[in-house]
Amino acid sequence: MNFSFLFFSCLALPVASCTGENENKQLRSEEKNNTQLVVNSVPEKENFFSQEYLIGKFNQKTDSSFALIPLKYCSKEGMYLRKETIAAFVKMYDAAKKEGVNLKIISATRNFSEQKSIWEAKWNGSRLVNGKNLSQTIKDPVERAKIILRYSSMPGTSRHHWGTDMDLNSLENSYFNSAEGKKIYEWLKKNAAAFGFCQPYSMKNETRLNGYEEEKWHWSYIPLSSVILKEYLQKIKPENITGFAGAETAGKLNIIEHYVKGVNPECR
Ligand SMILES: [Zn+2]
Repeated sequence: MNFSFLFFSCLALPVASCTGENENKQLRSEEKNNTQLVVNSVPEKENFFSQEYLIGKFNQKTDSSFALIPLKYCSKEGMYLRKETIAAFVKMYDAAKKEGVNLKIISATRNFSEQKSIWEAKWNGSRLVNGKNLSQTIKDPVERAKIILRYSSMPGTSRHHWGTDMDLNSLENSYFNSAEGKKIYEWLKKNAAAFGFCQPYSMKNETRLNGYEEEKWHWSYIPLSSVILKEYLQKIKPENITGFAGAETAGKLNIIEHYVKGVNPECR
């Protein structure tokens, strides 16, 4: 899929400008949000993203490329995405709504320290995985990491670091087999690409051999995430994946090659 034509255009919603004049305004007010979603941080050159950014070492609450997602689109308060991603999502949300499909963001940007908290809770057993305390049931570090990796990313490797990726409606694939969930998923499969979104963790098959299991809820804004993925693969090495419990398994698991790169080819 080629979305490069979007990089140099303003993706702002009606009335918003591309000048950044609204940059500091909060996007929380639902009645005002359609005029305040401004796109002003689209990469216009190669080598746009820093190594630190690529591994999630930033604060989305203070980074001007990010904005708070208006609550009407979310299951809870306090979630952030890059501004371009929000603008594209709002268009998709409105189109879906017209067809009776209610999209809801249930998780958005998670930076390195947030992902580290999730990972280490599972690693140390304070958060059970399939009802088990993995620190007691799986002593081998690589095997323990593999189980956590079935659905959680290693800190420094998550697409949720990028401000382009979000989880929609439910974190269970089974939900998307229910009447309501199926309607949502079928709509996304048919229409999300027109708004720039793609499902990176599609069903595993001959085109996607490695990486996370299928996640019908996880959608990515490709005009940006494809650029970020490319830069990630150029700049981040296994030795950069460090600073959390179990980090020593990253190299053995070939984490970048298998997990970061192991996405639906349509989302590259
Ligand atoms: Zn996700």
